[in-house]
Amino acid sequence: MNLVLMGLPGAGKGTQAEKIVDKYGIPHISTGDMFRAAIKEGTPLGLQAKAYIDRGDLVPDEVTIGIVRERLSKDDCQKGFLLDGFPRTVAQAEALENMLAELGRSIDYVINIQVDKEILMERLTGRRICKDCGATYHLVFNPPARPGVCDKCGGELYQRADDNEETVGNRLEVNMKQTQPLLDFYSAKGYLRNVDGQQPIEVVFADICELLGGLQ
Ligand SMILES: [Zn+2]
Repeated sequence: MNLVLMGLPGAGKGTQAEKIVDKYGIPHISTGDMFRAAIKEGTPLGLQAKAYIDRGDLVPDEVTIGIVRERLSKDDCQKGFLLDGFPRTVAQAEALENMLAELGRSIDYVINIQVDKEILMERLTGRRICKDCGATYHLVFNPPARPGVCDKCGGELYQRADDNEETVGNRLEVNMKQTQPLLDFYSAKGYLRNVDGQQPIEVVFADICELLGGLQ
């Protein structure tokens, strides 16, 4: 079961990744974790990546791809894997295709959790934080009993600058622009499976399980 998981911020990718990994016993391979592990183990590629990260530079594709290759060659990936956050570009996706072919494997599905931009905006801009005690709320998912007032201490609730409409809107736009060529690439390969991420978490997961039911 060789999977790539995609979805915009707020689509619920992390939640679904956790559930997939739990049920199917394949490792969740996120780029961040992979870099951290390679750096901790002190592999040559890990050390190269560290040098870029320490300088505040982007890690070049050849290093990232090398680290992915090392990770996918490990024993725990024999049954499969769930890639999350890689590939980010078509060039990386092509490199992944070549790498998997060399390993005698291929991607089964690219699962894309689809949520409309308006709903993502609502999810991502709804967070409110108490000025006094730091308790967090969400206007839709976890609203305070009285608008703008902390249930715990009566403090005033505010919205972090990162959560405002403009910042979130820009972040989504950038993400959508970066993701579209990748979705097109995987669609053309026949791997892409869109899942409706606007349903309750358990229903989204049930849809994913139905999709994965036919795989080894
Ligand atoms: Zn409070």
